[in-house]
Amino acid sequence: MDIYDELGVKKIINAAGTYTVIGGSRMSETTLNAMKEAGSSFVEIADFQKAVYKGLAELTNNEDACVTTGAIAGIYLSVAAAISRLHNAPLKLLSKEAIQKSEVMMFRSHRNPYDRGIDVLGCKLVELGYPNIIDMITAEDFEYAINENTACVMYVEQPLGGWAAQGALPLEVVIEICKGHNVPVIVDCAAQVPPKSNLWHFTKEMGADIALFSGGKDLKGPQTTGLCVGKKDFISWLNKNNFPNYGIGRMHKVGREELAGIYNAVKEYVEEDEEKRDLESEGIVNSFVESFSAEEDAFFFERVFPNEAGQPMPRAKMYILSDNLTAEIIRDTLLNLDRAIYTAVENGHIYINPMCLTKEEADYVLESINNINKREK
Ligand SMILES: *Cc1c(COP(=O)(O)O)cnc(C)c1O
Repeated sequence: MDIYDELGVKKIINAAGTYTVIGGSRMSETTLNAMKEAGSSFVEIADFQKAVYKGLAELTNNEDACVTTGAIAGIYLSVAAAISRLHNAPLKLLSKEAIQKSEVMMFRSHRNPYDRGIDVLGCKLVELGYPNIIDMITAEDFEYAINENTACVMYVEQPLGGWAAQGALPLEVVIEICKGHNVPVIVDCAAQVPPKSNLWHFTKEMGADIALFSGGKDLKGPQTTGLCVGKKDFISWLNKNNFPNYGIGRMHKVGREELAGIYNAVKEYVEEDEEKRDLESEGIVNSFVESFSAEEDAFFFERVFPNEAGQPMPRAKMYILSDNLTAEIIRDTLLNLDRAIYTAVENGHIYINPMCLTKEEADYVLESINNINKREK
């Protein structure tokens, strides 16, 4: 009997991917142990933070790093850092007026529910371009929008495609222009690992000031962490407003357990054999593709790539042939099993994402889906 059984909450097998609403990802035994160890002793938090940040910077080939309570808190504290940097003072010393006139530039095509982290600061969000390609914004238009109140650019990067609309300038163009005007570039790339090289690509290689990753998605750290990596100068501004200093970061404090967890998770992530994992993922997807055929079964699967977040990982997409079935019926049937399975439905198709499945779980998902098939065909 575990804590979920004790509280009467049903456990689910995650065949959907690193969705936060079902827990994101699974921490390894060693990460869970690191958290347990960290929680068992007292330390000076400022010293532990410094050591963890230094370690994370080294592991990710960046000048500096820090940890927030998720990528959204990273957005919030990065924009606050940019406002502080613009006015050369921690946020707590700035007037409301100074904050209100500080401008954050963002492409309209990048607007999303996670950017509420900017609004709540009370600064001015300047939207650029359109979320389509009818009248594409030019580098000149973009440069024209920069002025003495510009604090930063907030850029949502999904190199292989994902849910962001078209209508933004490429990141390298934005960074180039911003460099010339001393405007920092913040990159929201919360779900853009794998590949692990993205942990340094946007910052060290491309020159963005800070890149924000979710600790609880594929990095397999605690759900309540965000990994921020980038330039020393920019992160030092972030830390001026951040815990353990008093300031707006105090309500986003990261405990020693989470610091230990994300450190260990990132260490394991950069050591992971990506090729081996790719082969395992392809193997799982292939098992679905090969097990069903359009001629003989109630549905069949096709391999699709990249996945819903624009990660370079395959998924198995189901095409339903039987008139008695819909994607929603299949999803609900799987979710109502004693050993429940959670699948993603998009536009009338079930998708199986191998990222959070063990081989044993994947076999069970395949068997359960085949049971539906046997009843229908
Ligand atoms: C998931 C996600 C976030 C939010 O990340 P949290 O770590 O859950 O706060 C922000 N931006 C993008 C693009 C995301 O995919």
